[in-house]
Amino acid sequence: MITNSQIERAAYDVMCKAAIDIPEDYLDGIKERAAAETGPLCCFVLQSMIDNYEAATTDRRPMCADTGLPRYYVKVGNDARFDGGFVGLERALRSATARATQDVPLRPNRVHPLWRTDHDNNVGINAPEIEWSFEPDVDWIEITTVHKGGLFGTDYRMLFPADGIDGIKRFFLDTLIAFGKRGLACQPAIVGIGLGGSKDICMVLGKQAACLRAVGDRNPDPEIAKLEMELKELGNSIGMGAMGFVGSSMVVDCHIEVGFTHTGGMPMSVHCFCLSSRRATARIHADGSTELRSDPQWFTPYMRRETVEWQPQAASSNKSG
Ligand code: SF4
Repeated sequence: MITNSQIERAAYDVMCKAAIDIPEDYLDGIKERAAAETGPLCCFVLQSMIDNYEAATTDRRPMCADTGLPRYYVKVGNDARFDGGFVGLERALRSATARATQDVPLRPNRVHPLWRTDHDNNVGINAPEIEWSFEPDVDWIEITTVHKGGLFGTDYRMLFPADGIDGIKRFFLDTLIAFGKRGLACQPAIVGIGLGGSKDICMVLGKQAACLRAVGDRNPDPEIAKLEMELKELGNSIGMGAMGFVGSSMVVDCHIEVGFTHTGGMPMSVHCFCLSSRRATARIHADGSTELRSDPQWFTPYMRRETVEWQPQAASSNKSG
């Protein structure tokens, strides 16, 4: 049985780790962009960021003064047993957020949208967000936190099926150029694209694609994987680079996630996970032991399952009597 305090401790640990230690895959991606970059200002920004990540890890301080919006993604094994049920789990996540905000410290960004009430702990009505998924045949719980910066680095468009791949590329470019020109997303970013679903799920998928897949990870559908690579190259060819300066390093990687959608449409969302691509995951085993890592491994084959095991029966066998 996993206890409530083990859950709280794991959530606290990932909150602290995410704020301070840049994920290795993202750091490698930044170094790759820095090696290829020729724009002098972009080179300066990229090197400064690499120095900044090192200083944050050495000093055990946040890599960016802006905490962004800390949030959680929780994957619960179907055989997991834990104290306090799901309400206890949620309470532990909220408590860990408040404790980490005080201890790291994290900037208490969360306020009421109208009254600007700030509890100084990044907790409030509907905050932090918690998204859930489930995994068959395992007894662990995984808690991932993401500190999502880039407040304005998100957009949505309803495309039509006839817009096709060209329409996807056009919206992708429109978005990156708008973000770059207005300095909205602290690039280079991991760009996540949601394709399909309903409007809300399209947004969820795009954000998860940006925040929950490691740099270099490819979608298991080979055609989608090819499109991810094409979009990455396209995004790095618009003449803008780090922080929107002249250069060629807007995109560290591009990830696409899809959901079945209405036959009349092809909704698309674009999300930028910024220069401070903060994420960390803890797996809590049934005996309470915990492992930390930076790759959430969120999109399992089970999550991307396509249909049901149910098969239509012959019309005659459906009739009763
Ligand atoms: S967008 Fe990211 S890097 Fe830029 S200020 Fe916000 S958290 Fe920091």
